Amino acid sequence: MTRLKRQNITLHYAKAIDMFSNYVITYDMRDTVEAETKQSEIDFAPILQAIKNREKNQPPRTEPLQEIVYWLLIRLPPRMDRHYSVSDACVKCGICEKVCPVHNIGLGASGKPYFKHRCEQCVACIQFCPQRAINYKDKTQSRKRYTHPDIKYTDLAKLNGCT
Ligand code: SF4
Ligand code: SF4
Repeated sequence: MTRLKRQNITLHYAKAIDMFSNYVITYDMRDTVEAETKQSEIDFAPILQAIKNREKNQPPRTEPLQEIVYWLLIRLPPRMDRHYSVSDACVKCGICEKVCPVHNIGLGASGKPYFKHRCEQCVACIQFCPQRAINYKDKTQSRKRYTHPDIKYTDLAKLNGCT
């Protein structure tokens, strides 16, 4: 909210929605993720309609403590990719490079990915790697991967301008 205000943007409508977390670095993906995804779609339908109708509501206030925690945490993500690794399972397909929304992944001369330290921690590279070759420290090796069945890596690549 504070950031929007600073940019003279007025938020007319806001609604919270329960969703599963795909942040595999901290959480294991739950086995119920498919069912939770379907429920999110149901929950989201009236919100989408409200947005289309240009409805207005009173957006929830952000507590000062939340703001402080946010400002502290927001500094961490860009360089967290120092702890990402690419295992020998990598087949140099380049999918990770294409799905990264901030072009934080490059491919070296050998085709092996490397990270450029402006990571946004979206974990798309970890989730979409077909070989499960990208990991964070020793946290993610055994954790489930999940991508939405309707979203292919080519969809993200197109959005990111990588065809
Ligand atoms: S997506 Fe996985 S297999 Fe493909 S280049 Fe990236 S790390 Fe290697
Ligand atoms: S895809 Fe997401 S997590 Fe992976 S390097 Fe890019 S911003 Fe970071």
